[in-house]
Amino acid sequence: MKLLVVGGAGYIGSHTVRQLRAAGHEVVVFDNFSSGHVQALPADVAWVRRDLLEAEAVRAVLEAHQPDAIIHFAALIEVGESMGAPGRYYRNNVVGSLNLLEAVMQTRVVPLVFSSTAAVYGTTDAVPIPEEAPLHPESVYGETKRMTEQMIHAFHAAHGLPFVVLRYFNVCGAAPGGEIGEDHPNKTHLIELACLTALGQREEMKIFGDDYPTPDGTCIRDYIHVQDLADAHVLAVEGLGRGQISAATYNVGLGHGFSVREVLDAVDAVLAEDGLPPLPRRVAPRRPGDPPRLVADARRIVDELGFQPQFTALKDIVRTAWDWHRGHPHGFED
Ligand code: UDP
Repeated sequence: MKLLVVGGAGYIGSHTVRQLRAAGHEVVVFDNFSSGHVQALPADVAWVRRDLLEAEAVRAVLEAHQPDAIIHFAALIEVGESMGAPGRYYRNNVVGSLNLLEAVMQTRVVPLVFSSTAAVYGTTDAVPIPEEAPLHPESVYGETKRMTEQMIHAFHAAHGLPFVVLRYFNVCGAAPGGEIGEDHPNKTHLIELACLTALGQREEMKIFGDDYPTPDGTCIRDYIHVQDLADAHVLAVEGLGRGQISAATYNVGLGHGFSVREVLDAVDAVLAEDGLPPLPRRVAPRRPGDPPRLVADARRIVDELGFQPQFTALKDIVRTAWDWHRGHPHGFED
C-alpha cells in the first residue's frame, strides 16, 4: 500500500515508518518537524514539511500523492503543557485533525489509522481497562484525543470513512540496534529519565509515591514497546486495506503491568550487564494526577488483528531504550 504518515518524524511515527517499509509498503511522511526529527527517517523516504493547520496544503499533498491510507500521529502530547495552553492544544490537535478529515473528504475517502491514548479513559477502577470503559479524559490533551475520536466516528457515519483508533498505553523502548529512539524536548517518561540518569544527566531517580494500593506501593503501568506498537499500526492499516475491518478501536498494551520499582530494577539489571552501578533512587511525593494502576485489556487487537507483541520482558524493553540513549546521549543531535 501507499501510505501517508502524518507526524511520521516523531517517536512512534518514525518507528512505524520503519516497520511499514519492512512490510513492503510505500511511505510518504507529512510532518511540521516541530518535535519530529528528519534524522529519525530513513534517508530515502519521501517527506514534506507541512502543517495540518494549512488546510490547503493538506489537500494539495493528498492530491499529489494519492495515498491508499493515512496514519495520523501528528499532535502535541504533553499533559501538563496542555493544561496551561488549551487553545494551542485544541487548535493543533482538533482543528489540525479536522483539516485532515476534510481534506480526505475533498479528495478521496481512504482509510485512516489514528493515534489515541489511554488518557481518554481518565481515572478508572477498571483493571484491566476494556475499550468499552467510559471515557473521562482529565486533561486537555486527553480531551483533544477524545474529540478527534468523535470526529472520526462522525465522518465514518456520514461519509463511510474506514478507520482504526489505537489507544496507546505507556510507550517505551527504541529500535533494537539503537538507530532511532525517544527524543522529546521535555523528558518526563520513567524509562527515558532512568537512562538519562545512568548517563549522568540527572542526579537520581525519584519514585513518585510508594504508598499506592499496589503490591509494592508504586504505580503500575502497561509498558508497550514502540516497535510492537508500530507493528500494531501495520496490522491496522493492512486490515483496513483488505476490508477486514472498517470501524474499530483497540487498546494497545501488553495486558499486564509493571510497577515503578520493577521498572527501575530492570534498568539496574541492564546497567549491571554493562558493568554500571545501580541508579540512586529516592521516594518522592506522589505526582498529581497519577492513577495507581493503568493496564490495558488488549485482547481485542490480539483476537481481531493477530497482534503479538515481541517485547514482553521488561529487561528486553529497557535494553533497547538504554542502547539508544547510550549511543545518542543528546538524542538526534549526536
Ligand atoms: N514516575 C516516577 N518517577 C519519574 C517518572 C515517572 O516515579 O521520574 C512514575 C509515574 O508517577 C508513573 C510511572 O512512573 O506512575 C510512569 O510515568 P510516565 O511519566 O513514564 O508515564 P505516564 O504513566 O505518566 O504516561
